[in-house]
Amino acid sequence: MFDSLNDRLSGLFDRLSGRGVLSEKDVDEALREVRVALLEADVALPVVRQFMTKARELATGEAIIKAVKPADQVVKIVYDGLIDMLGGEEPTPIDLAAVPPAVILMAGLQGSGKTTTSAKLALRLTKFERKKVMMASLDTRRPAAMEQLKLLGEQIGVDVLPIIAGQNAVEITRRALQSAKLQGYDVLILDTAGRTTLDEGMMAEASEIATISTPVETFLVADSLTGQDAVRTAAAFHERLPLTGLILTRVDGDGRGGAMLSMRATTGLPIKFTGSGEKVDALDVFDARRIAGRILGQGDVVALVEKASQELDAAKAEQMAKKLSKGQFDLDDLAEQLKQMKRMGGMQGIMGLLPGVQKVKKQMDEMNISDKMFDRQIAVISSMTKIERKKPDLLNASRKRRIAAGAGVEVSEINRLLKQHRQMADAFKMMARSGGKGLGNMAKMLGM
Ligand code: GDP
Repeated sequence: MFDSLNDRLSGLFDRLSGRGVLSEKDVDEALREVRVALLEADVALPVVRQFMTKARELATGEAIIKAVKPADQVVKIVYDGLIDMLGGEEPTPIDLAAVPPAVILMAGLQGSGKTTTSAKLALRLTKFERKKVMMASLDTRRPAAMEQLKLLGEQIGVDVLPIIAGQNAVEITRRALQSAKLQGYDVLILDTAGRTTLDEGMMAEASEIATISTPVETFLVADSLTGQDAVRTAAAFHERLPLTGLILTRVDGDGRGGAMLSMRATTGLPIKFTGSGEKVDALDVFDARRIAGRILGQGDVVALVEKASQELDAAKAEQMAKKLSKGQFDLDDLAEQLKQMKRMGGMQGIMGLLPGVQKVKKQMDEMNISDKMFDRQIAVISSMTKIERKKPDLLNASRKRRIAAGAGVEVSEINRLLKQHRQMADAFKMMARSGGKGLGNMAKMLGM
């Protein structure tokens, strides 16, 4: 998988690393080459655009680390961009926290690999999570499909709801739910009927089954070989069904990978698994980091840049801790902190780490500080003069109006930011006065 993308990018990185210094123009050209590579891999245009905006921002922004070669830094920027495109870092487990049976609804076009994937999933849950799983086929129009699920069940040792001829999909669903409940199954996998093309009847039926069975997960199974059609199918299903995730099949035969790379950004849905073969154990948990690593084939470089970046953060943290211990905290410090927070995965992640500073956290919650505010706040602070950033008291009404116009926000937003800064500065001062041992720790945790 990703052969073409991998070839093109390795060639590019080889050429870049031969050069010591990269000008802004070199970086821009390199990114443009990445853009072509992504388009050739059949990644959707809006997704590529999003990637380019972010990559350019990173390449010109704050994150330049002097300790590593510029070429390596470009690798890291592309790596981060790919992870972002693929929807974050950590694989998310299947949500089985329901009163048993937890229902998993499988939807998708006929031939997408839905029935095979149902069995793969059942095997996985039985083998690795020790769940008692039942499967049921709702494909009343194709007796062969029901028979196929039955055979797969026998092959992997997972029970399949007995077939009763003449029942419709809703009747089968009710029977499956009842039997799974009565017989103490943890999980019930419902394999809905597929058609060869998107059609209203199939959507309406799947949607009715979803209403009756209240699934904890509704997965769309899509064939990665169909590229952007798979993405369109997913988007169309998602309009009618509250999907919770995607499973991409046949990635084993897909040299381009455009569907996988476009799915998340286009549909907003996480890819949960990928199917990599016809065998029942050929199902992999989707892991954006692993995939990005495989596309780039530059694991060592990424690790190196990450380490340098952590060292830089640590040095900054120490510097900031020193300032804070003197009770100093100006708007430059706040801006720096906001940038750090953005880099470290946002407010929620960071504040969750701070059991000892509930007060500051509560103040932040009260002021409704959210991740998307970071960029605007950073823009506000950078619209101030150096002296204003050091001495926020200087900010009278006319200065505020000027800054608001410069940053494209309302004056009220500036007032909110100043209030937030004041409260944080006060909190830090108080902690400094109390000799705050917690202060250094807090600064470290905040990545300051
Ligand atoms: P359904 O009509 O959506 O239920 O599709 P099936 O489950 O019957 O799968 C159709 C064909 O695709 C079968 O021959 C499967 O063995 C094959 N298939 C399913 N998933 C994969 C996969 O991840 N890789 C490969 N190579 N083949 C797959």
